[in-house]
Amino acid sequence: MAAPSMGGVSLPRGNGQTVRLPRGASLTDLAEKIGAQPAALVTALFHLGEMVTATQSVNDETLQLLGAEIDWDIQVVSPEDEDRELLETFDLTFGDEGDEEDWEARPPVVTVMGHVDHGKTKLLDALRNTNVVAREAGGITQHIGAYQIVTELEDNERPITFIDTPGHESFTAMRARGAKVTDIVVLVVAADDGVMPQTVEALNHAQAAEVPIVVAVNKIDKEGANPAKIRQQLTEYGLVAEEYGGDTMFVDVSATQRLGLDELLTAILLTADASLDLRANTEQDPQGVVIEGKLDKGRGPVATVLVQRGTLRQGDSIVAGDAYGRVRSLLDEHGNKLKEALPARPVQVVGLTSVPRAGDTFLVVEEDRVARQIADRRQARIRNAQNASMRKRISLEDLDAALKENRQLNLIIKGDNSGTVEALEEALMKIEVSDDISLRVIHRGVGGITKSDIDLALADDVIVLGFNVRAEGQATELANREGVDVRYYSVIYQAIEEIEAALKGMLKPEYEEVSLGSAEVREVFRVPRIGNVAGSIVRSGTITRNSKARLVRDGVVVADNLTVESLRRFKDDVTEVRDGYECGIGLGSFNDIKVEDVIETFEMREKPRA
Ligand code: GDP
Repeated sequence: MAAPSMGGVSLPRGNGQTVRLPRGASLTDLAEKIGAQPAALVTALFHLGEMVTATQSVNDETLQLLGAEIDWDIQVVSPEDEDRELLETFDLTFGDEGDEEDWEARPPVVTVMGHVDHGKTKLLDALRNTNVVAREAGGITQHIGAYQIVTELEDNERPITFIDTPGHESFTAMRARGAKVTDIVVLVVAADDGVMPQTVEALNHAQAAEVPIVVAVNKIDKEGANPAKIRQQLTEYGLVAEEYGGDTMFVDVSATQRLGLDELLTAILLTADASLDLRANTEQDPQGVVIEGKLDKGRGPVATVLVQRGTLRQGDSIVAGDAYGRVRSLLDEHGNKLKEALPARPVQVVGLTSVPRAGDTFLVVEEDRVARQIADRRQARIRNAQNASMRKRISLEDLDAALKENRQLNLIIKGDNSGTVEALEEALMKIEVSDDISLRVIHRGVGGITKSDIDLALADDVIVLGFNVRAEGQATELANREGVDVRYYSVIYQAIEEIEAALKGMLKPEYEEVSLGSAEVREVFRVPRIGNVAGSIVRSGTITRNSKARLVRDGVVVADNLTVESLRRFKDDVTEVRDGYECGIGLGSFNDIKVEDVIETFEMREKPRA
């Protein structure tokens, strides 16, 4: 491509004037602001050694480089500032309002962190059942990303909110996006294992965020447990137990034996009371943070939000990240409908038009129209910013030919909830990098892999990653026909390893999943002593008894690791049923089968090395 001629097109020099641009702006955006021709900017940048098109997102450094050349002081506005400005145009602010005197005390919000296998999940499960307030009937406790329990302290009923996704990723990811939700970190350390790398990492995260820590020394029921040693080890990291003259509360617990749980809750409250003044205005327009988002079969987009201020009510017009809508219903972690949610209350919000991401902030506005406009503007901005920032350079020597040619590996990530999609994307972006190859996520989303994802993948060389989701409808057919590489995962590190290996051109011969058949559930029969049997019609291939199976509902894998334990045609047991025939499929003890579900069967075969 020849350099466009500079003939006649002059650039308006800025003489040091300031121009503000959002992150990920294009040369056309800049041209508009400084009254230049986009083509002239393309040319100017070309002379500086960068070839970009007029509408492509340009990264911060390049914008500044260009600015210096034409004497404009280009200020790239951070997403947070930009959002603040966006809200200001609607006369809105995200934050506390009113006189602190009038605020009400609110419960602390707790995140559990610690080394893998030290018992975070078990502890969250055990704490969930400590509620002293009797539950309303009918509610089954579900995982919605956070829950609240009520405990007693000095004869007062005191609620505590727990973020129900253990680990550092969610904590850090939220903080990285400017959302501070955690008031207190419970650091879990297994008494039989001691301080481990992720213990230290968790501690660093908590300290960086200036969040007080309560240490739960777990697994004290185990032989070899040495709680005193944990206390001693942690002094090296600045956590000195109260009994040793420090100011950190250590509590010995056993998540499995349910020991020390009340003491832990007390320690959380005492730490909150001693070092934090947790209050919120319950009267202002409600605001808060999205903890988790997912697409639900019946209810559509569902987001778990944590109210931080104000009182969220049914019927409110809400905007959460780039999603908006009317709050159709508010549900707590027991599935009970709530009329309203006060600060520190996690609730599921039904009624949004799309699925927001974990860490997105939400606010309630006067009118639906405003919610929609904010959401639209954010959507456009997120798209731009992603285009700019997701270009990442990768340092790997022996890349395979295709990669060498393209210098870019494009990915589309689809997953079953926004948290995992983000975690996967973030982890992939951390793969080691160099100069001449880049890894780029061109699209991500919640839900099954659709035909439009494959269409998008066709435009470039794109690998589609499905995390706990499958391809829907004609997407598989299209992908197969056009040779689009679609890979399915249910474990994040496996996805990362494979992409890393692919980048290194070292993909090991491995077992590959070979699809055997699929059947659509037409009717569900309850069979005494056996459970639910799926009255199905085989849609492709053959269904074979004893083969591995998974259950897919609306493109989302509901259960993996199943086995076709029984297979019948009419009254007879059979070993296989072919395409087009009806049959009864029993999936052993797995009973959550619904009409229109798809049962896919497969086997693992060794993949020949390419
Ligand atoms: P996480 O990775 O930190 O979430 O750890 P998990 O909660 O999954 O627990 C890891 C393993 O430790 C599981 O096998 C648990 O059953 C076990 N475990 C957790 N807490 C205790 C405990 O208090 N005592 C004993 N003996 N085992 C525990």
